[in-house]
Amino acid sequence: MQPTILSFEDARRAVEQAAAQVHRPETERCELLRAGGRVLAESVLADRDFPPFARATRDGYAVRSADVASVPARLKLVGEIRAGGPPQTLDIEPGQAVEIMTGAAVPAAADAVVMVEYSLRAGDTVEIQRGVAAGENIVPAGAEAKRGEVLLSPGTRLTPAAIAIAGSCGRHQLLVYQRPRVAILSTGDELVDIAAAPAANQIRNSNSYSLAAQVQAAGGVPVVLPIAPDEVERLRHLVQQGLVSDLLLLSGGVSVGKYDLVEQVLAELSAEFFFTGAHIQPGRPVVFGRAPAHPGALPTYFFGLPGNPVSTMVCFDLFARLMVEALAGASPRRMTFTQARLKSDVKVKTGLTRFLPALLSGEYERSEVELVKWQGSGDMAATARANCYLVVPPDRAMLAAGDMVSLLLV
Ligand code: AMP
Ligand code: MG
Repeated sequence: MQPTILSFEDARRAVEQAAAQVHRPETERCELLRAGGRVLAESVLADRDFPPFARATRDGYAVRSADVASVPARLKLVGEIRAGGPPQTLDIEPGQAVEIMTGAAVPAAADAVVMVEYSLRAGDTVEIQRGVAAGENIVPAGAEAKRGEVLLSPGTRLTPAAIAIAGSCGRHQLLVYQRPRVAILSTGDELVDIAAAPAANQIRNSNSYSLAAQVQAAGGVPVVLPIAPDEVERLRHLVQQGLVSDLLLLSGGVSVGKYDLVEQVLAELSAEFFFTGAHIQPGRPVVFGRAPAHPGALPTYFFGLPGNPVSTMVCFDLFARLMVEALAGASPRRMTFTQARLKSDVKVKTGLTRFLPALLSGEYERSEVELVKWQGSGDMAATARANCYLVVPPDRAMLAAGDMVSLLLV
């Protein structure tokens, strides 16, 4: 098998292209209360105008703006309208005003609301002390959305704001996509389950758990398989089991060591490889491809993630999440990069795009970033202190303190 090592951008593009072609999943009904974080599988239409009536956005007085063109102006109060109060057809004549509360329907003859802070009330007259322009402090009926308008489309992630929209359209149930099943297979002779007491030469299998948490956060259902030893027969059996899921994530066994058998086993299962490495750090040996669970089956996508715990996590963030989200039916979204000022010099070798665990701190517009001290891609404790990745482009050997640098937020 010919190794295919891509730049970060090309590797990411390869995953994006594959993700764009996956089929939309099956759908199911979901109660709105449980729908947060799911992916919408239908359109949600406005069932009425939003707002349904011209709405006052301030407590105060509904007036004709012409009446308060010069201030102070004394107006006669002819009524009161409260939010949710009975519909009013108060006809405001010139020189008149109506007391009104936030959220109440503004009578048709009024074209502005004066905030109560700019008024002085005496019995049934009010002195307006500041003029208002026509339309001020009123949201016209239908200004936010017209009845029948599409407010949410299939593929939308149900964020709290999207839930609010569905709720305001009276939707207590939504059609959502079924979550994809994502198999997780950790490989390595040194690994033991976290429930077992490790011998001196053994390592607890933490990757299956971090990957399960990442899969869950991305909208998938993790299916954690037993640990695979670095032995072809058993590894092949577990890989085949994993390929029955919608996606297979492997950890470990993708480097060039004598007992790194993952690629060999996948190749024997007629895998097609899109890349077998990327010019990145951490995560250089990352693998992406697809293979059938059994001869004649439709191929299942897989990622071979390097086993170093930080590499595993970063590679999930850089590549695998995108595929989990696509299989969950979610519309693609871009990676979120931002910039901050670097606190101290960073020196690296050129040639790799680096995603180094870093700490973004500082206040408001004065945000700054520094690398967390780490012992390399196995150092999970360092990563746990980080809250972003500092991105070093492959052509930069040095980022100087004070530079604006690129960060990846996940
Ligand atoms: P590998 O990618 O198989 O060469 O593993 C690289 C390093 O990551 C080794 O030090 C492994 O012990 C460690 N490692 C591999 N898999 C896991 C895992 N599932 N949980 C924790 N550490 C792991
Ligand atoms: Mg290994």
